Amino acid sequence: MYLTDLDKQGVAALMTEWRQPRFRTDQVMAWLNKGVRPEEMTNLPKALREQLAALPYGGSVIERKLTSPKDGTVKYLFLLEDGNLVEGVLMHYSYGNTACISTQVGCRMGCKFCASTLEGCVRDLRPGEMLSFIKLMEQDEPPREGWSRSVTNIVLMGSGEPLDNYDNVVTFLRRVTSPDELNISPRNISLSTCGLVPKIYRFMEEAPHVTLSISLHAHSDEVRKTMMPIANTYPIGDLIEAARAYAEKTGRRVVFEYALVEGVNDGREDAVALAKLLRGMVCHVNLIPLNSVKERSLMGVSRAHAEEFAGWLTKEHISATVRREMGADIDGACGQLRRRVIHEIQQPI
Ligand code: SAH
Repeated sequence: MYLTDLDKQGVAALMTEWRQPRFRTDQVMAWLNKGVRPEEMTNLPKALREQLAALPYGGSVIERKLTSPKDGTVKYLFLLEDGNLVEGVLMHYSYGNTACISTQVGCRMGCKFCASTLEGCVRDLRPGEMLSFIKLMEQDEPPREGWSRSVTNIVLMGSGEPLDNYDNVVTFLRRVTSPDELNISPRNISLSTCGLVPKIYRFMEEAPHVTLSISLHAHSDEVRKTMMPIANTYPIGDLIEAARAYAEKTGRRVVFEYALVEGVNDGREDAVALAKLLRGMVCHVNLIPLNSVKERSLMGVSRAHAEEFAGWLTKEHISATVRREMGADIDGACGQLRRRVIHEIQQPI
């Protein structure tokens, strides 16, 4: 059992077991919600602090931090208690700050263009670890003038496949949206998946109704299979049907991520076919010029070409925008910083 994996009920049960007065639960929760460790819970009796400190904590610390001189995006490398490293990114927008966090150490999905998956999945992240990333970002960056908090939006778009760590991710989402904990609205949260179809159906029944983002990247199984092994398990038709069901059940617009790869999925005929696939659904297409990964030979497209592709989709009455590239100068893309740092640690210059 880890202290950070206890929700309010869990803390209350612990306080009862330790014969503490009821009000201690709120005191402990207030500290835990700020990411404060037991040693620093100054309004608790020393004996209780020591009892809490004796439990495994299960959080993380900031190991390294890079700030983009271009747009102020901050890339964090978090060190977990078992020595593993994971990434997180804080992006600044006019309406708030968005925290992009990881859900696994590595990833087992094997997408050809993605740096997170090159060495497979090391392990799942626990809810308390995912919460710790948000709390550390909030400690590191105080809220802007007139804001009540620093992290206003969350995207599960870091390393890992969130629906492959289903139970922990659903628990994380329940806790991060709970008024007892971080109280962030599901409307301000996005979960991105490569498309584990049966899990999407479970998710819409069981989890808070966050925005669902689907990493589509192709309009046909034929092309999708060349980039994403998951396409061999779940055909694109089933995935689109699950997306339609999610939009209907939740009333939320589904977002499709589409990374443009030169000569693979970026032609006019691709835009027309994609529009046909998505027709009639409440959705939006987020176009990403592929961030070329050194280890792979797939090439991205220019911003101008991505804008042109967006225009083709708009002409077909499909809402589309090109994603703002944030933090590209600081290895902002999935798994790239972690890999670079692990590489440096393993082969010191
Ligand atoms: N596993 C989930 C969460 C990862 S989200 C998913 O697949 O959706 C990270 C997003 O970045 C995904 O859409 C992923 O396909 C995309 N991505 C990964 N590597 C990329 C790269 N080199 N260039 C552009 N997008 C990339």
